[in-house]
This record gives sequence, structure tokens and C-alpha cells, in this order.
Amino acid sequence: VGVAFFRNSATLRRSFASSRLLRQGACNHFVSQASENTNPADADAKFRLAVKDNIATIGLPTQCASGVLGAHPSPFEATIVEQLRARGASVVGKTNMDEFGMGSYSTNSVHGPVSNPLSADEQLSAGGSSGGSAVAVQLGDADIALGTDTGGSVRLPAAYTGVVGYKPSYGLLSRFGVVPYANSLDTVGILAKDASAIQDVVFKTGLHMEHDPSDPTSLTAETRKRCARASPAQLAPLHNVTIGIPAEYNIEELEPAVRDAWAATAAKMEAQGARIVSVSLPSTREALCAYYVLAPAEASSNLAKYDGVRYGVRSENGDAAGDTLYSEARGSGFGEEVRRRILLGTYSLSSEAIDNYFIQAQKVRRRVQQDFDKVFSLENPLYEPRQFDLSEMSADLELADKRGPVQVDFLLCPTAPTFPPTLKDLETKSSVDAYTMDVFTVPASLAGLPAVSVPVWPEDSRLPVGMQLIAQYWDDQRLLSMAAKLE
Ligand code: GLN
Repeated sequence: VGVAFFRNSATLRRSFASSRLLRQGACNHFVSQASENTNPADADAKFRLAVKDNIATIGLPTQCASGVLGAHPSPFEATIVEQLRARGASVVGKTNMDEFGMGSYSTNSVHGPVSNPLSADEQLSAGGSSGGSAVAVQLGDADIALGTDTGGSVRLPAAYTGVVGYKPSYGLLSRFGVVPYANSLDTVGILAKDASAIQDVVFKTGLHMEHDPSDPTSLTAETRKRCARASPAQLAPLHNVTIGIPAEYNIEELEPAVRDAWAATAAKMEAQGARIVSVSLPSTREALCAYYVLAPAEASSNLAKYDGVRYGVRSENGDAAGDTLYSEARGSGFGEEVRRRILLGTYSLSSEAIDNYFIQAQKVRRRVQQDFDKVFSLENPLYEPRQFDLSEMSADLELADKRGPVQVDFLLCPTAPTFPPTLKDLETKSSVDAYTMDVFTVPASLAGLPAVSVPVWPEDSRLPVGMQLIAQYWDDQRLLSMAAKLE
């Protein structure tokens, strides 16, 4: 339904006339590309930037791979795109994705699935939802690509395609002009061939210190300064670095070759002097369920505005007098997975279910955050330093209890439990199968922590394995330095 709808849209034909469509490209990773006309001032550009199609750009439509947005021309540009243009970026195109960021394989798109350039006989998934951005970097069509990471959407495609994918601390990069999926989790992430390219663009240029007044969740300048004072920017020599291996991530479903790559990476770091210790994050098990309650709940509220009146393409079959205007626009404009999420979210927020689902999931989220705070040796700089006061000792005291577990600088685990599936296999998989791919990425998202996926290439494997490093809040700079050591 989505595809037919998309092709019939007159608005779409008009607005796309100014941009060159690369719909038939082998990997289907671009949905529109910049032409001479749309990028006139980029003669002295320093790097080529690909932008996920849920991030607003001037000159190219912003459609979130959804039929409901037709060829929506954004009247303004996302702050992150402006910031990168000011640093020499030339926007080469908008990239294909899962509709509104909902998916793990970049198959839920009105433009059709993205395929992985590492495919051999059979087409492999590029991972999602920022699959098009990962492929643009993998193929060298862009030096840097922007994605969004709500529960793993930058890290998972990075792992599947063999590039580096960085999800920053929540609030570090501006989300103004990024179409919201689940606001309390959404971050803008960056993909590149290596971690140092990301470090250059975010930290060397001072992007990490820039507050955006247009984004209410952007960290204030003052908080940034306080965080910067509290966290070391430089990575110590490896013999002073402790890396934690979270025991709960060693799940039954983990593919043996991925487990081997994880062990080999830990051994390599140990050989270079790092201390490797086992740690426990007991709430990890519940994190995935909590995520799939919270994210759809926020999404159902965010997506209410696409009704064919405020936003979105109005369906020809809709009838305002007969009360079908909204339902026709939403029913024909949204794809199946997005409709499923709206229903899930609406249910878990309903008065009958909110206590058992939404409220419980928020409690799990809090426990996941506390688990991380216990294992990291750095304090979370967002918390005000508190004097210990016995009178505060009550049952719900929420100070991180640092006794017991060994404290670490970083956590190391795989990004995904398996290698990329084939697009053919995905045709018969359920949406719950797709949700399980996010088991290792959602905990850092729930806690707002920075995380990066780095490809490692096992000797006898044709495909890379994504290794994920997670760090304490605002420890992004050291995280990327550590990521560079894994490469
Ligand atoms: N796969 C997850 C989801 O479908 C993550 C998506 C994302 O990070 N945007 O919600």
C-alpha cells in the first residue's frame, strides 16, 4: 500500500523533480541526491556528508521513508546539519532507513529495503534503521554520515556493514530538526570509516560544547562545562584502563563466531596492557522489554500529528464528513510496523495498561541506569555531587552504591548477537525477531550513555563483527579514543 501511495503522490513528483533519485542503485541506500542546483555553494567543501532521511535539510525532501510524508520539503534545516555545513560539510544526499526509525534491518521503507554491500550470493541486510547512512560510508559515497540512534539504529547497521557507528551521550548533539521517534531516547549518531574521523568532526571542532537553544534537551553550556571538568578527555595508557565484560550479555542466542570475536577482542586489549574484568549488569535482561514498551509509547504520541490535516498526505478516500479523514490518511500512509508501534504504544498508555506496562518499564529503565552507574569508575556528571548524610538513608535511597563490583572505564560487548540475516530470510521473520537484535544496544540507550560499534574482522570470516564499547555519561571523547584501539 505504501509504495503505491508513494508513487501516486503528485506532491512527490513535484518536489522530487529538483533532486536526482537513485532509487534503482544496487544497494538502494540513497533516497535523494544533491545536484549542482541544490548544492551550489559547496565548491570548497571539506567532506561529503550523507544525511538520514529523518533529519531536515534544505534542498532535499525529508520523508522518513514514510508514505505519510510524501515528498515533504522542510522549510528549515536541522541544527546538526547547519553545524556540519559550517565545518565544511557538503550534503551529498538523504539516506534510506526504516520508516520513522522503527526497525532493525532497513526493510520497513517505502523505498524498499537497503542491501548490504558485503552481500555475496544472497542479499544481506544492511541493518537498521540508519542502514542507508552506513552503506553510504561503506561504499565511500560519503566521508561522514548522520544517522539517528534511539535503541541501536546507528550501531547495528555499522556492525552489519563494517563501519564505525557512534551514539553520543543523550543531549550532546542537537536534535532540532530531527523528526522525533521516542524523544527521551533519540540521539543523532555519526557513522564513518574510522573513529578518529568522528573525533575530528565532533571534538576537534568543538561541536560537543555547542548548546542549541532550539532543542530543549540540548545540554546547556553550563552543564557542558561542568561535565567537561568532571571527565578526563584523554585516554590513559592502556595499562591504566579497565574494561568490563558484562556477564549478562553472554546470552544463549549469541552466535558462537560472535562470541569468539568478543573473546579475541578482549584478549587483544589485554595483550596491550588493559585490565579485563567481569562485571554484572543484572537489569540487562529486562532492558529490551522495557525499551519496546517505552519507545512505542512515545512514538504513538509523536506520530499523532500525521493525520492528513496538520501533517501528512491526505488520502483521496478520506471523508471529513464521514469521519474517515484521519483513519484513511494514517491507514494508507503509515507502513505496517509503524502502525503496530502506534497500537502498542496507545495500549500501554491506556488507563487499563499503564500501571502494568509503562510504569513498570520506567522502573526498569531506572534500574538499568543504576546498574551502569555502579560499574563505571567515573561518577555520572549529571548528578549533583552529594554529601553522604545518614538521615537520607531510606529504602529508596538512589545513590549509586559503589561497593562490591569492580569499577571500569568501559564495557565491551558485541553490538548484535548474530551476523546480518539475508533479506530473503527476513521475509518470514516476525517483528519480535527483529526486536531481539537490539538486545545489546538498548541498555545504553535507556541510560543515555555514549556507545560505539567498531568492526573487527575475524580471520576466517567474510563478514565483520561489530564490537560495542559503552562508557559513562559524557565520556564520549575517551570512548572514541578507546574505539580507535580496537580497529
Ligand atoms: N530497532 C529499534 C527500534 O525499532 C531501534 C531503532 C532506532 O534506534 N531508531 O525501535
